[in-house]
Amino acid sequence: MNTPDVPLLLSGVTVVDPVAGDVEDAAVLTGTDGRVAALGSRDEVLASSGEDVREVRTQGYVVPGLINMHVHLGLALPGAMSDAVDGASDSQTVLLMADAAARTLQAGVTTVRLVGESRYLDVDLRAAVDRGAVPGPRIFTACHALCCTGGHGWDADALEADGADAFARATRLQLRAGADLIKVCVSGGIAGEHESIDTPQLTEDEVRVVIETAHAWGKQVTAHAASSATVLPALRLGLDGVEHGYSLDEETVALMAEKGTWYVPTITVSRCREFFELNQVPEWMMERALGAGPEHWASLQRAIAAGVRIVMGSDMPPYAPFDGTTATVREMEFMEEAGMSPREVLAAATSRAAEWLGADDLGTLRPGSRADLLLLDEDPREGVSALRSLRAVVQGGRPVRDDRAELVAWTAVPA
Ligand SMILES: [Zn+2]
Repeated sequence: MNTPDVPLLLSGVTVVDPVAGDVEDAAVLTGTDGRVAALGSRDEVLASSGEDVREVRTQGYVVPGLINMHVHLGLALPGAMSDAVDGASDSQTVLLMADAAARTLQAGVTTVRLVGESRYLDVDLRAAVDRGAVPGPRIFTACHALCCTGGHGWDADALEADGADAFARATRLQLRAGADLIKVCVSGGIAGEHESIDTPQLTEDEVRVVIETAHAWGKQVTAHAASSATVLPALRLGLDGVEHGYSLDEETVALMAEKGTWYVPTITVSRCREFFELNQVPEWMMERALGAGPEHWASLQRAIAAGVRIVMGSDMPPYAPFDGTTATVREMEFMEEAGMSPREVLAAATSRAAEWLGADDLGTLRPGSRADLLLLDEDPREGVSALRSLRAVVQGGRPVRDDRAELVAWTAVPA
């Protein structure tokens, strides 16, 4: 990732940080190593900095860059979206992914967790972003999602396997390619025409071998899992994370809370008619998605009440326009509407997500962390809709979006 030539001192702002705490009239100093060098009052920070510092005096609110935990850069929903990617060559696909990555970063999402991509192109993209060759968020990826023959995602490049040996191999193939985590589809979902949301798809042996294999290699497993019938047995086998959870009963959320299982509700998926219409998604899918809405909402509220560890993921493209903002910000607004406090939602999209990823230098602006930050006009403590007022994005200490050209004079041309 490209690093800045000169340290940046951003002063006059209020920092709202789930880990470092809130600092009024703050200054943030980012070093040429792309990390936060100091955070505190302007006097304190200036005292600790060297000579060559470019100061930007401004106002507004600074939060850590967002982490979106359920992203597909190269896949598409049935309908007009998949017409653009079906049959695409590797080079065509990776260009589409790079475009999506750049838009994602512009939307303030500085890190993504990819939960189902294709042909290991995500591994190449991850390397290119790390080198600073293409703009994009930091990438953690599951590579291919895994499913049974004809199971959820099979027609969107999930890798099909049947039987414990085949699932062990499929898991190992992802680890060999460089997967950061494993994603397995244990139930039906919204986007599969020949399944229903609660179709169980894997045997217990298959789920167990995926979890045991990944854990042996020190990687976590998250599951596309729609309802209690499929989530509960997987929890008992040691599953680390649940995606969607369209229908989770009290027993399930209680067990998730007890075991510390992570939940990525992707609540937008069951309430985004406008997005589906815009992308000409087929009628059967729209009905299934929106039909799941009330129980999905109730499941999220049960999880909140039970104290389940919840992190933010949109499933929709992170930058996709939706309700006058992006799918990422709308997802956060829904989480707040469902009962989480603005501070909890911000943590779910920053520091808590980083905790899942095992990256303690992400999701916070405490000194030593990666200098990924957003500049907002409005106060996110009043409500996460403040993210609609995003005006600048800094990644690794370099401004990558700067609507008011406040930071641009400082921007270094990548070496
Ligand atoms: Zn998904």
